Amino acid sequence: MIASKIRQILIGKRAGSVTLKYPFEPRPSEPGYRGRVTVDTDKCVGCGGCADVCPARCILITDVSPFIRIIRRYLDRCIHCGRCEEVCAYDALHLDGEYELATTDRKDLFIEQKLFMGTCNRCGRCYIPPTPLDRLMVVGFRKDEDLDGETI
Ligand code: SF4
Ligand code: SF4
Repeated sequence: MIASKIRQILIGKRAGSVTLKYPFEPRPSEPGYRGRVTVDTDKCVGCGGCADVCPARCILITDVSPFIRIIRRYLDRCIHCGRCEEVCAYDALHLDGEYELATTDRKDLFIEQKLFMGTCNRCGRCYIPPTPLDRLMVVGFRKDEDLDGETI
């Protein structure tokens, strides 16, 4: 009995350590790992393509006026499928390698963007004005509007 236990210990020692010292030494994620969703707000034009394809419906778009679009991303519901990254034609969305996303506050996984949009005179759909100067010319750009009691 004791001999078999000693044999088991010796076999275990020969194999070396096979466990990780997590969380003291977090393992880097593998290339292509679909972790945290990040948004480059400078590149995002508010087209809504990501919201159209999100299977978890965690990207919500609200047009509060013809010139202001709000995109809310409730990433606590995200299933990390990567569809939003695939469809974004502006390279604004990425799933990086961060996987330690546990939190006690849902607000840590919430992103809100307020975009000032131009409106096409023919089809009425929103687009982002191409230059900062054009954005200043958009009616309503400088005007505060109420959204659920908030001033934006
Ligand atoms: S698809 Fe890209 S550019 Fe369009 S709203 Fe989503 S993040 Fe922004
Ligand atoms: S990774 Fe998938 S579930 Fe998460 S926001 Fe993008 S499309 Fe939605």
